[in-house]
Amino acid sequence: MTKPLSVACPKCEKQVVWSTDNPHRPFCSERCKLIDFGAWANEEHSIPGEPDLNDLSSDYGDEQY
Ligand SMILES: [Zn+2]
Repeated sequence: MTKPLSVACPKCEKQVVWSTDNPHRPFCSERCKLIDFGAWANEEHSIPGEPDLNDLSSDYGDEQY
């Protein structure tokens, strides 16, 4: 009887249950994982305040027209 361990996604800080069902752990989703890995690989981090792909993809992804 172990409590499921939950961690905060390093990218968006959403609580994620750490389980083998989540292949993207400690990230909440593949998207956060790819964003973080991409930033690391390119050695560039998004500049605060500057619009980037995150904003665009959320605009298109979250609403259905
Ligand atoms: Zn996340």
